Amino acid sequence: MGKVVALANQKGGVGKTTTAINLAAAVALLGKKVLLIDADPQANATSGLGFDINQAGTYECLLGDKRAEEVILHSEDIKKLWVLPSSINLVAADAELSTMEGAHHRMKEIIDSVSDNYDYIFIDCSPSLGFTTVNILTAADSVLVPVQCEYLALEGLSKLLNTIKMIKSRLNPSLDIEGFVLTMYMRNRLNNQVVSEVREHFGALTYDTIIQRNIRLGEAPSHGKPIMLYDASANGATNYLLLAKEFLKKNRKKKISK
Ligand code: ADP
Ligand code: MG
Repeated sequence: MGKVVALANQKGGVGKTTTAINLAAAVALLGKKVLLIDADPQANATSGLGFDINQAGTYECLLGDKRAEEVILHSEDIKKLWVLPSSINLVAADAELSTMEGAHHRMKEIIDSVSDNYDYIFIDCSPSLGFTTVNILTAADSVLVPVQCEYLALEGLSKLLNTIKMIKSRLNPSLDIEGFVLTMYMRNRLNNQVVSEVREHFGALTYDTIIQRNIRLGEAPSHGKPIMLYDASANGATNYLLLAKEFLKKNRKKKISK
């Protein structure tokens, strides 16, 4: 069964989608079978990998109108990468799911139906802690939190950490924190201060790899490609490949220690 990693942070614009796309692509390029589930109605991970955002996907699966295997798409560019697409329809999911019986486990049922086919399943969450995100955290093995290097980066994280705690105690006792990834780093005093604060606060849960601010990372989605295929020589490509290697190394260690 594949490991399920949710990318979450209720703050918008911190690099969740950029990290979801490029970490998923990098892990797939390193030889693992990867499914990326787009769970944001903005569908930026879907379009960022070159897929149409007007087709059945996560929403239809959550509602039970489609089976995941019917709507999962295979990347044309990366042999070991698949995507469960999103669309604007997903905005209705929070309201509709909350009236459905047993709805807390919808995402888990979807994932269980396909997880044998993958080594890793990444989920790009929307910037909310609503019903859909709670559903995802109920289904996830761990949460990877992108943290933008900016003033007050730690602020707001306490809310996410409380939500994780609540879900651990009520819905998913085995939910882990995968780690914190610093994003959009620029070499200056403020950014360095944020890096130190996050490392001080979260210790070994902070990834050594830091994602630098890199214009090419902002351009790649409009070409429907992960950074490694859009511009393999960009810093962003190097950063995300290193992040993927660190992620896989940490997970090998965890497996051994289990
Ligand atoms: P989120 O999913 O958390 O809302 P995104 O990944 O969509 O955040 O990033 C927000 C914006 O910042 C996007 O326009 C994205 O292209 C850009 N961006 C993200 N990471 C970087 C980076 N390391 N360097 C430059 N631009 C970035
Ligand atoms: Mg996003």
